[in-house]
Amino acid sequence: MKKDAMQDSDLEKIKNEASQEVDNAGNQAELLFVRKKYLDKDGVLGEFFKLLGKLPKEERGRMGVAANEIKKELTAAVEKKLAELGKTVVDNKGKRDFFDPTLPGICPKVGHLHPFTLLEREITEIFGTMGFEIMESREIETEWYNFDALNIPADHPARDAFDTLFLEGGLCLRPHTSPGQVRYMESHQPPLRIIIPGRCFRRDAVDASHMPNFYQVEGLMVDKDVSAANFKAVIGEFFKRFFHRSEGAVAENTDNIRLRPSFFPFTEPSFEVDLRCVNCAGKGCSACKGTGWMEVMGAGMVHPNVLKNSGVNPDLWRGFAFGAGLDRLAMIKYKINDIRLFYGGDQRFLNQF
Ligand SMILES: [Zn+2]
Repeated sequence: MKKDAMQDSDLEKIKNEASQEVDNAGNQAELLFVRKKYLDKDGVLGEFFKLLGKLPKEERGRMGVAANEIKKELTAAVEKKLAELGKTVVDNKGKRDFFDPTLPGICPKVGHLHPFTLLEREITEIFGTMGFEIMESREIETEWYNFDALNIPADHPARDAFDTLFLEGGLCLRPHTSPGQVRYMESHQPPLRIIIPGRCFRRDAVDASHMPNFYQVEGLMVDKDVSAANFKAVIGEFFKRFFHRSEGAVAENTDNIRLRPSFFPFTEPSFEVDLRCVNCAGKGCSACKGTGWMEVMGAGMVHPNVLKNSGVNPDLWRGFAFGAGLDRLAMIKYKINDIRLFYGGDQRFLNQF
């Protein structure tokens, strides 16, 4: 706008354009933009007022009144429209309350079994197909079933290794699932095959591989001519199926496990069972500390004293027994390096299984 060309027609033009833009504004943001453009100090009308002073005196008064009139009308029009648009927003909100059958539904979260439960079922199913029965034993045990019957007399140093949590009245929380062997044999005569999965407790400090509460799977087979070779065949078959299902790369034959001499009071001879590393298939990696083998369970031939204490004649029957940490098997199978994740209750972790 040139100051020497200011005329009534200029004002008229501003008025028409501004009201057109107010009408066209479809939402509050657009409307606020129009208000800024025309009504701000630096806006179109503001610039017009600044130029009024350059006009001849008689012109200045008349044009000033006319411009003020336009400013008032425009302000009113903007306010009115703002109120209308505000109402429109409210109306839209009201419409959202209506049920829209075309919207996708909200899927309710469905719970599922804990990975330990899933694994326990898988393990008992595998042994079940090999003729093993499933037994649940007690979590609170007497010292007799926990130790004495298992050939660990009161003065035996092996008792200390269990870090047992004792209760009142000579009871304790079982530190292993082995007492179940004795209880089962007391009421069942051989031949027998059982699996005892269950929770165990020890006075362990919590770290990446220890919890004071953990799970074991106990196995026992007693028959006339049971030998360590039978054990190796059964456990080899178990690992073949257990890891074959989800890993593909493991144990095609029993050479994928090896037995190392060890000591447990309730077995003689005793051995540690190593599994060829499921991660590197024996080449050596960080998971197996470069050895190619992973320690997975303790086992052995049932000690004659244990059979005797359970009411089974050791001159007629022989058996093998083993105890594996379910937590450990889960960590190997799922490649989890921290046991605490299984007990944390974090759904982001648990929902992966
Ligand atoms: Zn490895």
